[in-house]
Amino acid sequence: MNIWQLFRKLRPFVTPYRMLIVATLIMTLIGSFAAQVNALTLQYAVDSINRLVEAGQGLNAGWSILITITVVLLVKELISAIVQFGQKFYGIKLRILVSQDLAQSIIEKFLTYRLSFFHQNDNQAGKLQTRIDRGIGSLTTLVQIFFIDILPLFTSAVIALALMFYANFYIGLTAACIVPIYFWLTYKQAQRLGGWRRGLRDAREKKSQGIIGIIESIAVIKSFNREPIEAQKQLKLQKEMTENQMHTRQTSYVFDSLKTFIEQIGIVLIIILTAFFVLNRQMSIGMIMYHVLLFNNVSAPIRSLHRIYDEVNDAMIYSEGFFKILEADDEIEPSGALQPAVRGEFSLSNVDFYYPNGHHALKNINLTIQPNKITALVGLSGAGKSTLISLLDKFYTPQSGSVRLDGIDLNDIDTRYLREHIGLVLQKNHIFQGSIFENIRYGKINATEEEVMTAARKASIHEQIMQLPDGYAADALLLSGGQQQRIALARMFLKNPPIIFLDEPTASLDAIATEQIKHSLDQIKHGRTVIIISHSLSQIIDADYTYVMQNGEIAEHGEHEQLYRQHGAYKEIFDAMAKSLNIDKISKTFDEQVTH
Ligand code: ADP
Repeated sequence: MNIWQLFRKLRPFVTPYRMLIVATLIMTLIGSFAAQVNALTLQYAVDSINRLVEAGQGLNAGWSILITITVVLLVKELISAIVQFGQKFYGIKLRILVSQDLAQSIIEKFLTYRLSFFHQNDNQAGKLQTRIDRGIGSLTTLVQIFFIDILPLFTSAVIALALMFYANFYIGLTAACIVPIYFWLTYKQAQRLGGWRRGLRDAREKKSQGIIGIIESIAVIKSFNREPIEAQKQLKLQKEMTENQMHTRQTSYVFDSLKTFIEQIGIVLIIILTAFFVLNRQMSIGMIMYHVLLFNNVSAPIRSLHRIYDEVNDAMIYSEGFFKILEADDEIEPSGALQPAVRGEFSLSNVDFYYPNGHHALKNINLTIQPNKITALVGLSGAGKSTLISLLDKFYTPQSGSVRLDGIDLNDIDTRYLREHIGLVLQKNHIFQGSIFENIRYGKINATEEEVMTAARKASIHEQIMQLPDGYAADALLLSGGQQQRIALARMFLKNPPIIFLDEPTASLDAIATEQIKHSLDQIKHGRTVIIISHSLSQIIDADYTYVMQNGEIAEHGEHEQLYRQHGAYKEIFDAMAKSLNIDKISKTFDEQVTH
């Protein structure tokens, strides 16, 4: 991306604030003229005083000069102060507003992206966050540079250069010759730094991903005593970054010294040239001051050119990543327009699905999920059960074959409408930062307190919530895993959808909670289409129909008795589950109790 493309991309974010920009520009222009006043005043002062001294006159004759200088400089400083305040204030206001819009628009945009976007290796949480943060940071800096920094500096430089040319062509030319050399050096510097900067960006992203990783796995790290290894991994990253930073700095310092050298040569040349003209009686002595100060106005912006160049380069590198996220339109979740009445019959025909990494997770799946019935998906872990549910919830679209709801292709159905009718309960459900009340109400944003409590009762969590010191206002993140799971169930009860997908909903619960939830689930199952993935015998037996999955394929299907009699995969899994429960001993215990 080059600077103009970047500028064009940034424009829509800036145009709403054009009045702010115009106000800043007007201030800029006034400020740029005011910046030349010092040079003019000093030249006037030196020449007038010199004339008086040469004429043998003293302080008495000089009062008017002193008063004039004082008044002019005071007025100029006053105007400068007001202008600078306005410029800085409007500038910062523009920066803050643009940053707010950038942040909001990228969040609104990536919320619309499909799930696979977030599962790409390049878009892990930490990396994405760094890219967004850095992107916004450098883009707002860019806005500041474009509209607040560059213009005053360069207007001031152009005016100063024009005044120098006006005073004397050769002096103007000398000053003007230094500028392209400076530009060229800055350009070379930026070229040299480009690769290193990109490396630095990657290293930064990896580092923040690394830190998030450590925090997320801290318990595992500690239990295995792997702190030194984790520290070592980070050290390697840090070293890469340090090397990068060193190279960047080293290159910068070499070029900065070169540029300072060129600038000093410029000043010396201008002093010598002006002195020559003064001695040649073509100029007054005050012109030496005048030219040196004007040249300062020319070189000051150019001196900050490399800073600006650095920032622009940074912005180009970071904004590349930012705009890649903002403009990933092909990642927007597809949606049809149909909003049919939902009966709840899913059918899959010849469905093949590959994950973005190429893994063939579902192979030629043909099945029908009966409405208002409970269908169980059984299979070893990794068989493709959750993937199948993801397809039904339209989180992913199969590469071939079709998924239909009541005979209508899911692609043609409004995605939001579809999900409005589906309740999804996962093995580990997500609890948001906030109170228990807010977390349950997530299932129905405008639910009343009464409705929330009813849902909590159905999920067998109400009593436990009431025992907490803060009740429903307590922080939901502090609840235990099993309690959090019931909060998630309450959320689903509140949503009250006609279709329910349960992906091992009781896997992380204790026996009592499982029993209570089973009771709640039994209640909600009536009159709904339910698909349940479970390793719990009781939940599988309860199903009306079962599909057994193996390696992404449907291996067997049927009702419990019938499947069991087939002596196939289902029986094998079922027996293994029973064995793991030690059913023999359990039933013996019950028998003994009965006989006593
Ligand atoms: P199950 O629910 O039966 O345990 P899954 O449907 O979760 O199995 O996974 C099926 C296969 O797809 C597994 O081999 C798993 O490793 C793979 N898989 C799951 N999610 C992804 C993903 N986001 N990207 C790539 N492969 C995945």
